[in-house]
Amino acid sequence: MRIPIKDVTPSIEHAKIFGWVHEERDLGGLTFLLVRDRTGILQVTIPKKKVSAEVLAALKEVTRESVVEVEGVVKATEKAPNGRELVPDTLKIISKAETPLPLDVSEKVPAELDTRLDNRYLDLRKPKVNAIFLIRNSVLRAINEYLWDNKFTQVQTPKIVAAATEGGTELFPLAYFDKEAFLNQSPQLYKQMLMGAGFDRVFEIGPIFRAEEHNTVRHLNEATSIDVEMSFANEQDAMSVLENAVAYAYQYVKDHCAAELETLEIKDFKVPSVPFPKITYKEAIEISTEGGEPLAFGDDLSSAAERVIGEKMGTMYFITEWPTSTRPFYTMPFEDKPEVCRAFDMMHPRMELSSGAQRCHIYDLLVKQIKDKGLNPDAFEFYLNPFRYGMPPHAGWGLGAERLVMTMLDLQNIREGVLFPRDRHRVSP
Ligand code: ATP
Ligand code: MG
Repeated sequence: MRIPIKDVTPSIEHAKIFGWVHEERDLGGLTFLLVRDRTGILQVTIPKKKVSAEVLAALKEVTRESVVEVEGVVKATEKAPNGRELVPDTLKIISKAETPLPLDVSEKVPAELDTRLDNRYLDLRKPKVNAIFLIRNSVLRAINEYLWDNKFTQVQTPKIVAAATEGGTELFPLAYFDKEAFLNQSPQLYKQMLMGAGFDRVFEIGPIFRAEEHNTVRHLNEATSIDVEMSFANEQDAMSVLENAVAYAYQYVKDHCAAELETLEIKDFKVPSVPFPKITYKEAIEISTEGGEPLAFGDDLSSAAERVIGEKMGTMYFITEWPTSTRPFYTMPFEDKPEVCRAFDMMHPRMELSSGAQRCHIYDLLVKQIKDKGLNPDAFEFYLNPFRYGMPPHAGWGLGAERLVMTMLDLQNIREGVLFPRDRHRVSP
């Protein structure tokens, strides 16, 4: 029976393991093979005079990163990692790795991110890289759990669409038989239609596609969006669900991912406390201007401005009351001061993690706002119809899964948190 490497302890006498050869150390009469599976690394100790001819023949053949089967006697030793070693009765090469390797998996030779991504299947074998994806898995599980527990229904909306969500230029066109179609940049319009369909609370965790030309450390051309929409709710209600979902994900990682955090050498993992502080857009541009990044009312926040404000805030926070001109047509303006709207961004000190708002549920106002943005309401007929036949007030947000993981683990490049990232220059592997 196969035993996971982490379960090989001196308390068992005999073990059969399967894994990859992480390292080979030849000390003359003694050879150490470090064998790795997804649960850990085990030292296989081979005293050449004491093992069988078959073991010696396999040892001669074996290369780093080959898949091997090892069966033998477990011994306690202070000199090996986790205080145990395996002395083999049998050593079999299941799949031999060619040499030289295109990438060093033992992390002794650092490689450029591009080389790593070109050889991602090898890169992902590194315990540190693997740990990122185990944590990402837990983050998404936690968010899922939190939203389920709070009566949100998980939905899947189409990724092939006919109209741009915001009429933007950031769309990938698609050959769709004899029609023009696009890859969806956001589930926004569909999750709003589901409010009109009586779902009350929905969420979706799925891909968004953005044909953004620029190549930055925090933009992907294919990203994962955690989207939420809720009925009979305003922007305050939406912010409350968002901060609690994020704090829940942090707490879940703290409680369930101690080993992965240790692998990543993250010592001081702090769960953000709720509620997150809120500042208005006006206050945000004042802070930025005072901090040497001058901004005027109506400007978008540059990444430099985000950093200045983030440094001052020192924690996750919200920016509220955005100029209506800076936000999409579906945003609800304040009734008494329509130049600002019920939109918010949720910020990590390093960057924006999420945008949300109370939406405009009033048909005539929505049509006007579409026109004000220079768009044609006819293109949005499928979206507008539900607003004509009973639409509840609603609010929601979109949270970038990769940015959440990137900032949580202090990754320098968003690509590190994606298995196979898509950017301006990369569509393979
Ligand atoms: P930014 O201004 O930082 O480019 P945005 O305001 O264009 O982001 P939104 O349309 O508000 O992005 O999308 C909501 C969230 O989805 C963002 O806060 C971010 O976390 C994530 N997101 C959006 N675009 C991308 C992208 N190209 N790559 C990775 N994540 C993204
Ligand atoms: Mg945004």
